[in-house]
Amino acid sequence: MRTPAQWLTTLGVASVGRTRDPTFVRARVVDTNDGIIATAGIVEGFAGAGATGKTIVIAAIFAMVAGGVSLAGAKYSEAAAELEAAQAVIDEERRQLEFSPQEELDELVALYERKGLSTPLARQVALELTAKDPLAAHVDAEHGLGPLPRSPLATAVPAGLAFAAGSGVPLVIVLVAPDAWRIPATFTAVLASLAVTSVVMARTSRTSLARILTRSLVIGTSAMLLSLAGGLLFSR
Ligand SMILES: [Zn+2]
Repeated sequence: MRTPAQWLTTLGVASVGRTRDPTFVRARVVDTNDGIIATAGIVEGFAGAGATGKTIVIAAIFAMVAGGVSLAGAKYSEAAAELEAAQAVIDEERRQLEFSPQEELDELVALYERKGLSTPLARQVALELTAKDPLAAHVDAEHGLGPLPRSPLATAVPAGLAFAAGSGVPLVIVLVAPDAWRIPATFTAVLASLAVTSVVMARTSRTSLARILTRSLVIGTSAMLLSLAGGLLFSR
């Protein structure tokens, strides 16, 4: 039997639990909000148009699947392009270091001078960094590249799952709420879960919870109201 953690590792998602990278966590919170709001919008739209029971459930399931896959695909392409661009920069720097090491050293000195160091100090910094790892020194100083970005799959899978998890909120509501309560129940559950993701967001970004919460609730409410209005329009 595999534990849930092992399954996550298999799926390439282990980084979600392990990550200390707040940027990554924030990006996944955004994906979760995306899933909550997009799927809730579809639910409200269908409910507004007079759809009931099974139809709304099916619409919510497809919103979850199509949205999750489409987001994962978009993130995969984005991360793959980023990785290829970084790889190309690294290859180019490696070539330059091989064929013109002296010019490359001068280039590094000039870069540190431009950052405000005196010439002797810039020279010393460049020499020491070059002695340690010339390629890393150049890639960092000239292109601002840190370690290689994470693999496309390690971004895409957590993004898709985060969207699906967010979609789960309105989906569960339409599964359990009777037709008469569907619209208000979805509204309430969505606003409550957006409040939860806002807390996570605030904790990883050290910014004001009030501002994040307001933004999130305004966006969520507008999306649901617009969808509901659209649905009502079609129900006439
Ligand atoms: Zn260089």
